[in-house]
Amino acid sequence: MLGKILVIGFGPGSFEHMTNRAQTAIQESECIIGYKTYVDLIQGLLTNQEIISTGMSEEVSRAQAAVKLAEQGKTVAVISSGDAGVYGMAGLVYEVLIEKGWTENTGVSVEVIPGVSASNSCASLLGAPIMHDACTISLSDHLTPWALIEKRIDAAAQADFVISLYNPKSGRRTRQIQEAQRILLEYRSPQTPVGLVKSAYRDRQHIVITDLENMLNHDIGMLTTVVIGNSSTFLYDNKMITPRGYQRKYTLHTEKQRLRPHERLRHENEPWALHQGKNDLHLQKAETAATTINPIKTGSLELALEALSKVKEGTASSDKKVIKTVHHPVVSVFELAVSPGIVNKQFTAKQMLTLAEVVGNDGKMEYTPHHQIHLRIPTANPDDITEKLEEAGFILEPLGDVFQLKACDFCEGEKKDSIPHAEELHQKLSGLPLPKELKVGFNGCGMACYGAVNDDIGIIFRKGKFDLFLGAKTVGRTAHAGQPVAEGIEPDNIVDVVETIIQEYKEKGHPNERFFKYFKRVGNIQGYTYQDMTPKIEIEPAPCGD
Ligand code: SAH
Repeated sequence: MLGKILVIGFGPGSFEHMTNRAQTAIQESECIIGYKTYVDLIQGLLTNQEIISTGMSEEVSRAQAAVKLAEQGKTVAVISSGDAGVYGMAGLVYEVLIEKGWTENTGVSVEVIPGVSASNSCASLLGAPIMHDACTISLSDHLTPWALIEKRIDAAAQADFVISLYNPKSGRRTRQIQEAQRILLEYRSPQTPVGLVKSAYRDRQHIVITDLENMLNHDIGMLTTVVIGNSSTFLYDNKMITPRGYQRKYTLHTEKQRLRPHERLRHENEPWALHQGKNDLHLQKAETAATTINPIKTGSLELALEALSKVKEGTASSDKKVIKTVHHPVVSVFELAVSPGIVNKQFTAKQMLTLAEVVGNDGKMEYTPHHQIHLRIPTANPDDITEKLEEAGFILEPLGDVFQLKACDFCEGEKKDSIPHAEELHQKLSGLPLPKELKVGFNGCGMACYGAVNDDIGIIFRKGKFDLFLGAKTVGRTAHAGQPVAEGIEPDNIVDVVETIIQEYKEKGHPNERFFKYFKRVGNIQGYTYQDMTPKIEIEPAPCGD
C-alpha cells in the first residue's frame, strides 16, 4: 500500500489563520516534516506524530524524506509557512517525485493544501495595499540568478505592479534590497507607500508604514515581507490603500481625485479602456510622452513645440536612463464646465474654435441643460487647457457637487440693475463644494422665463427687490417648484441671505443630500419653514431605466 503526501501551507503562523483542512491534515498525518521553526509554530496541533525537523537549507532532503516515507505507506505532512506553493515545498515535492517517474495513477497520492501566503497576511495588516494587479518577487538569489531577479524588479516596477518582496534580506544578503530600492526609484516616486511587515500574525509581529525613499531606514530581515505600492497607492490614517482602479479625474482647482463609487464604469471616465477603440493608440502615445497631444495644430509655435518634444523623445530612447524616469504614465480625465458668461449666453467663433482645439479627438464635450458645456479631457496638463479657455474669455467652473449660478440673460434695461448681484453671488460662491450639486436660478424679472423657481434655490428680481424660492425638487416624476419663502428682499441683503443659506447647507447637509431633502429634514432654514410641495397625486416611483 502506498502512502500519501500532504503538502500543507499553514498560513502566517497563528492557528486562527490556518485553514480547517490544514489543521485536519496535520492531525491525519503520521509524520511531520518541516523546518524546525515551522514545526515549533504548529506544536500545539500535534498529537503523536513522528517529527522530522530539519534546518532551513535542507529543503531537498525534506522532500526526499517525504517521498520515501510515503512510498513506505505512511501519511506524511510536509509543512510550509504561508502557502506551500509560494516559495514553499510543493514544487520541490513534485520535482523529487517526477525524478522517480511518479504519476498520479501509479504513485503515492499527493494533496497540496492551500494556505494564506505572506503577501495576503501582510497586506491585511497594512490596510488594502494589493487590491490591483500585483506580483511577488523573492530577493533570494541562492537558487535564482540575480540578473534575472533584477530584470523582474525592473519589469514589475515599469508595469506599475504592486510588489510583495519575499526574502528581502538576511544576515548575508543585504545588498539585494538596496538594489531593489534603486531600481524601483527609477520608475516610482520616492513617496510611494511601502509597508514592512515582520512576523505577521506571530508573537513578534511588527508593522512599519514608510515610503520608497525611507524604507531602508527601518529594520528589514528574514521574516519581513516588503509591500511596495503602485502609482495610485495612498496612505490614509496609517493604512496603505490601493484603489481598485486607476480611474481618476480632477476638476478645476482640485487635486486628482479618485472616482466616487457611483462614477465608476462610466465610459467617459474610462478613456483608456479598450472599448474606446481607435483612440487607444493615440492615448498610449500621450501616456508615454506624459503630455497632451492636441490633434489640431493651429499655430506654428505649437508645431515647433511638438517637433521639439519629438526630438526629445528621440534622444531619450537612445539613453535608457532618461526614458526610465518618465513615470506615472496614467492620464487622468480633467473635467470642467465652461460658459461664455454668467449673463452672456452667446459664444464667439473664436471660443468655439478654442473648444474644438482643447477637446481634440480624445476629449468629450457635452451640451447640458444648465447653461454650461461640460468638458472631459484626458490630459496630464490641465493648466494648458485652462489657460487657453480663459484666454478665449470663457468662465470656467468645476464639475460635481458644487454651487452653480444659472442666471438668465437679463433681456431688458431695468432688469440690468440686478446683474451686479448675480455677479457677486457667482464670485462668492461658484464652485463651492457642497454635499450635493446645487443650482441657484437667478432671473431678472417676474416672468422668470429661465425657470428660476425650478432650481434648488430660485431668486427672482421683481420691482427692484428679490423674491426667494427654496427647495425645488428638480428631477423625477414628483418634481416640483421651489417653495416661495420670501418676497421683496432688499437688493443689499440678497447676497447675504443666499450665502447664509448655502453655508448652513454646506455645514449641516449629509453627504449626497440634495438641498430640498435637507430642507425637508431640518424643517427650517434661516427662519424659513419647510412646507411640503410634493404634488398630491398618486404616482408610482419610476427609477432610472424603468
Ligand atoms: N510560503 C511562504 C513564503 C516562504 S519564503 C508564504 O507563502 O508566505 C519566506 C519569506 O516569506 C520570508 O522571507 C518573508 O518575506 C515571507 N514571510 C513568511 N511568513 C511571514 C510572516 N508571518 N510575516 C511576514 N513575512 C513572512
